[in-house]
Formats: sequence, structure tokens, C-alpha cells
Amino acid sequence: MRKAIGIDLGGTNICGGLVDEGGNILKRASKRTGTGGRRVVLEKIADIINELMEGEPIEGVGIGSPGFIDVEGGQVLSNGGNIKGWAYTKIREELYLVFKHLPVFIENDANVAAICEEWLGAAKGMDNFVMLTLGTGVGGAIYSKKLGLWHGSNYQGGELGHTILYPNGRPCICGQRGCVERYVSGLAVERNYLELTGERLRGEEIFKNSLSQPKCKEVVHRFAMDLAILLITLKNMLDPAGIVIGGGVINSRYYWWDLMIDHYERNCNNPTGTTIVPAKFLNDSGIIGAAKLVFDRV
Ligand SMILES: [Zn+2]
Repeated sequence: MRKAIGIDLGGTNICGGLVDEGGNILKRASKRTGTGGRRVVLEKIADIINELMEGEPIEGVGIGSPGFIDVEGGQVLSNGGNIKGWAYTKIREELYLVFKHLPVFIENDANVAAICEEWLGAAKGMDNFVMLTLGTGVGGAIYSKKLGLWHGSNYQGGELGHTILYPNGRPCICGQRGCVERYVSGLAVERNYLELTGERLRGEEIFKNSLSQPKCKEVVHRFAMDLAILLITLKNMLDPAGIVIGGGVINSRYYWWDLMIDHYERNCNNPTGTTIVPAKFLNDSGIIGAAKLVFDRV
């Protein structure tokens, strides 16, 4: 069976896996991303690849990276996400210096998650769908069977977290104000709670306490409403067969999913026809989707 290495590069961890053609993770390796900058991150990626391919014939390496990713050039463009010094990193070129004969493919992290869901997860069989990943930030991907992933003209397509939800709202790291990411990410929920109460509480706690504490309930209701507004925009813009929602915040969906659907159904002009589902893969979608880049292209 063919095997490839998938690497999920995040702001906190770099997680790698040896993946077979059935999407099974056979072996894992990971390191903290740290704040050492580009050179250190590249070395850690190389270490993980070395560890995973020891004694294994592999067909290549796929990497899911935050930021604007030039998939043809194998490099990061002006936005490197939340990894220090990551913008303008020529990932493929750098790894070629270490692994001469190994094909390396790079894709934006939310796009990689969408590839995984399309291959084996919640979007399997859908002609087209939109993926949202709600984590520290908000990632997005737009996919159709006919066209594949929507990269746009400058590899900035599907950046749904930076569509504007509140004009003149909170400043975003991208330079705009009022981006979706500032309101419906895990970090945003904590920020909303802080603004309301003057106290800090972890996102998970806020969701959990929303059943009993009015302030937490208020924050979670606002989150559900804000997310529903984004879903309505996506429905009107793209009319997708499905919207798949993943990322860390989905772990707390018990506390907000039904609220979100309720807001969506009550506020959308035609809520039927688009299936809204949670992602099937959470932590492993980055590794599996990144490996699939290799199986699709080698
Ligand atoms: Zn933004």
C-alpha cells in the first residue's frame, strides 16, 4: 500500500503522521512550534519527516500551513498566519535542500482540512461544500468536485474568517476591522466574555457554564448568532450543498450547535438545500488531508 507523510503545521504544534492510502495514520511524531522563527520551524519539520520515514518507503510529503500559500510555487506569501517569521518562506525549496528526491506539496491548512473531509469525512459525496474551521482563528475553504479547491487569483480565496461581520468592529491581525475571526473563534468567545464581565475564562468553561450562568449564556448566544449570520452569507453567496464546521470549538458544539441552527433557520431567506454538519475529523484532518495531497499528485 502507498504511504505518504502528512504534516499539520500550527501555531502551537507541528504534528506529523505516516499515512496509508486508506487514510489510516500508522505512525505519529510531533514537536512544539515554538517562537524560534522560520529556521527553527523548518528544522523541526525536517526532524519529523526523518523520524517518520525511517525504514519506510514513502511517496512524498504534504504540508498544511497557515497563511496565504502559493501551492504551485510551494511557498508562503505575505501572510504566514500565527507562526513567527513564516511569511515568504519557500518551504519546498528549503526542504529540497534536505530531502533531494522527495516530492513536497504545500497547501493552506483550512484547505487541507477540507480535503480530508471530502475524502473520508462529513463532505464525502457532496458536489460542493464550504468548510469553516473554528479554532484560535477562523479558517475557510471552498470546494467543488468540478473545480477542486478555490484558490482565487492570489491564493487568498476562501479566507472566510476575514469577511467582515461588523463594519468598523474589532481590529484584526489582517489589518481590517470587524472580521468574522474576531467574533466566532475560540479566542473571540473568551474576548466577548472578558468585555462583558471583566473576567477571564477559558472558552471551554464559558461553553460549559452557559447552561447555568447568565453571562456565559449571553456570550454563547451571541457566538451562535454571529456564526449563523456567516452561514447565511455563505448560503447566499455560494448556495453550497454543504457547510462543514470543524476546528477545536466544535468540541463544545453540544452547547451551541442547536442555537446556531435555530438562528440560521429563522433568519435565512431560504434555509433549505444546504446541509450544515460538524466535521468528522478534528485533530487528525490536517495530517490526513496533507498526505492526500501526495496521493493525488504523485
Ligand atoms: Zn481579518
